[in-house]
Amino acid sequence: MTTVAAYAAPSAKAPLERTTVERRAVGEFDVLIDIKFAGICHSDIHQARDGWGEGIFPMVPGHEIAGVVTETGSGVTKFAVGDRVGVGCMVDSCRECDNCKAGLEQYCAKGNTGTYNALDKNGDPTYGGYSTHIVVDEKYTLRIPDGLALDEAAPLLCAGITTYSPLKHWNAGPGKKVAVVGMGGLGHMGVKIAHALGAEVTVLSQSLRKQEDGLKLGADHYYATSDPKTFETLRGTFDIILSTVSAPLDFGAYLSLLKTDGALVNVGAPEEPISVNLFSLIGGRKSLSGSGIGGIQETQDMLDFCAEHGFGAEIELIGASEINEAYERVLNSDVRYRFVIDAATI
Ligand code: NAP
Ligand code: ZN
Ligand code: ZN
Repeated sequence: MTTVAAYAAPSAKAPLERTTVERRAVGEFDVLIDIKFAGICHSDIHQARDGWGEGIFPMVPGHEIAGVVTETGSGVTKFAVGDRVGVGCMVDSCRECDNCKAGLEQYCAKGNTGTYNALDKNGDPTYGGYSTHIVVDEKYTLRIPDGLALDEAAPLLCAGITTYSPLKHWNAGPGKKVAVVGMGGLGHMGVKIAHALGAEVTVLSQSLRKQEDGLKLGADHYYATSDPKTFETLRGTFDIILSTVSAPLDFGAYLSLLKTDGALVNVGAPEEPISVNLFSLIGGRKSLSGSGIGGIQETQDMLDFCAEHGFGAEIELIGASEINEAYERVLNSDVRYRFVIDAATI
């Protein structure tokens, strides 16, 4: 065990503060990672404030981790000291169920082990990336391609894969009209990835404040959902709508924007349930579905895809003492477009 510095929420809703946590000794198949950068995902805020319930405190959030390998276990074959690596939302799964065997570890029948706010196989709490070091099994560690800067790569480990996976699954590409709802951390990656896949991309944002950025990142069109005319103008337009919104939405209104056979895929994880009038699905054979992060191989494919297309995330680099302030800005939809903590300031 090694004691390392970290930022933690001591209890639900309490501000994050500097502390220390124990990392396990490097096991046979583990790598020790010197964390360089950690992204702030809205899921960190939901969990640190116990919005989803059953949070384990003290909690060290952070599942968008980029760093460098500084030690490897005797059985490690995938990585060597000095390699640039990333860790996303999960650090383990059962490895035996149909989903794990199919590369869908995020949907492990026994539940994957979250990078933080979870218990590992020994029953010990996991602590995330707002920290200087982490020990992770090589199987759940990703390689960050040379072309990507580590700070801009960190958010890909959650925001990137969470948008890439559904866009690929629902066949976003040439000839497809894709709408991305919400221009935040996930949304801005959704725009970049859908554009790189060749789809015609529309942003549906609460306002036109971020329009210029959206168009620069690859959107073809940009509409404000606060303008009721938007819903009339765009009725029956989209093949795929990807909602990244962190609060409950009127899904009925968004379903009306789909073509026949269109799909509304929700990745946002609001703290309250929503209700949907099922007639909005019946008229037009539409589907409403969800998607969670992505599998390990798929996450590697996404990193390689982003490197090939020459983009990471748009980030605002902050020091660890600014985490609480950054949380408030995320809650106010005032992030352009991902806060990333410089781990050297922890
Ligand atoms: P974020 O940076 O806060 O982005 C969310 C965006 O949604 C905001 O920037 C805002 O965009 C829009 N929005 C916020 N409140 C809204 C409201 N009341 N009505 C309409 N639009 C609103 O958050 P994020 O990190 O991208 O995460 C988004 C959600 O996805 C969170 O709930 C998070 O927990 C969840 N998530 C899920 C997965 C998964 O695997 N499914 C993975 C990661 C995150 P505009 O200003 O453009 O309107
Ligand atoms: Zn996340
Ligand atoms: Zn499994």
